Amino acid sequence: MKLRVYKFLEFTRAEGPGDRACLWVQGCPIGCKGCAVPWMWPEDAGQEVDVNDLSQRVLCGPKVEGITFLGGEPFAQAEALADLGARLRCAGLSVMTFTGYTLESITNCGNSDWMKLLSVTDLLVDGPYIHEKHDLSRPWVGSTNQRFHFLTNRYLHLKDSMGALRNRVEIRIGSNGELTLNGMFDTRNMHSFINAFGLAQIESAVVGDLR
Ligand code: SF4
Repeated sequence: MKLRVYKFLEFTRAEGPGDRACLWVQGCPIGCKGCAVPWMWPEDAGQEVDVNDLSQRVLCGPKVEGITFLGGEPFAQAEALADLGARLRCAGLSVMTFTGYTLESITNCGNSDWMKLLSVTDLLVDGPYIHEKHDLSRPWVGSTNQRFHFLTNRYLHLKDSMGALRNRVEIRIGSNGELTLNGMFDTRNMHSFINAFGLAQIESAVVGDLR
């Protein structure tokens, strides 16, 4: 089974609880106003990757407690992600899934693949990013309408302490000198940071990877 992928990170501490792998899927049919990653909308961009290969990369990579699915829209590739999530859960890893749909719309739509992805998800973050409700005070989410659903007991201990968790930003410099960022942050602050450190000449590379 294949997945259309924008980016895969073997290890991050900025995309969910604890140490995680993270998979940005390519393609999103929702099209939120103010979406920070419109380059992840086209379904025919990105790279096609075999689910078995991804599973092996996670299991043979740095030690992580789980994987985060985001994008793009994970439920647009629900069958393949459910397969990947099931393999990783069998190995004891957790699954966190972001979606621009609401939990109610997912459970009401009668799509069996969507239900399979839900069934392997421990922590679901639902709802589209809404520009008018922009808010970065909670970890990992960008607007106040987005909700955390603890679908299993795996992260239930976080339910009453979400406000104490801080957003993180990770900056990586590739072997070719390309700078990439991930995590949740205010782009205006990041531009100030870039300017303060005299990195203006690579700003375009940074902006290309903001979300
Ligand atoms: S669901 Fe996410 S990726 Fe899709 S348009 Fe909305 S913010 Fe962008």
